[in-house]
Amino acid sequence: MIHKIPQTHPRASSLMIREKLVDGFRNGIVVPQGLIAHGRGEAFDYLLGEKTTKYAYEAEKAAVCLLLLSNKSIISVNGNTAVLCAKDLVTLSNVTKSRIEVNLFHKSTARTNAIASILRKEDAFDVLGLDNKSKTIIKRVSSNRKYVDKDGIMNSDTIFLALEDGDRTESLGRMGKKVISVDLNPLSRTAIASNITIIDNIVRAIPNMVKISEQLVKKDKSYLLHLIKNFDNKENMHKSLVTIKKGI
Ligand code: ATP
Repeated sequence: MIHKIPQTHPRASSLMIREKLVDGFRNGIVVPQGLIAHGRGEAFDYLLGEKTTKYAYEAEKAAVCLLLLSNKSIISVNGNTAVLCAKDLVTLSNVTKSRIEVNLFHKSTARTNAIASILRKEDAFDVLGLDNKSKTIIKRVSSNRKYVDKDGIMNSDTIFLALEDGDRTESLGRMGKKVISVDLNPLSRTAIASNITIIDNIVRAIPNMVKISEQLVKKDKSYLLHLIKNFDNKENMHKSLVTIKKGI
């Protein structure tokens, strides 16, 4: 059950996100560690003014270009992202023709199936990461994140990781895959190891990316390539970090 938060409360939207995560925890979709990870994200979000900065928006635009230009893009979904933005993740996957794979640090069949069923409720017809027969392993990743789908992450050219741990991001990069991540912490290994790093809250980043993708899907390839060419991830991350410093 999600408690109602009065809309007049000055921190209504932040409290509502917490309610959704706690509800997801009670339903076995979010793990306790996911709640703690959210807390770390919240601290950075507070310093960013809890809004999408123009730098984050530029990164979101570049990320959509990369998804649209890729041949085999995958959106990796975990418990927190499923609870907070399943509907938008499914729309983003449809518009950018990316497949969805459930991939968990704290893995269990029950949790994987529960996340897949949230996604299917939002009309996802193709959810990977459920079939043990198509499971394979990414080398040099110690966590359960190493188990990926042969037809999904293993075979992809671009992976969109909405929330991730650094180990796998680094390994995916070594495998020659392009990695897009959303992480409010610009200092995390995930943020540093990604090709495109979106320093924004997923609850804003994913809906923004849906809107951007609906516009950019109509553009031709040369326009998308031009946008990506003009995007410098390191510089963009540095500007986000400066914004956070100003927030302090
Ligand atoms: P790394 O292993 O990459 O160095 P980490 O150990 O901080 O990072 P986790 O513990 O998996 O990785 O934490 C997940 C990350 O997700 C945190 O850095 C946190 O800032 C970020 N995060 C949590 N909730 C959100 C959210 N709603 N939107 C964006 N980022 C978030």
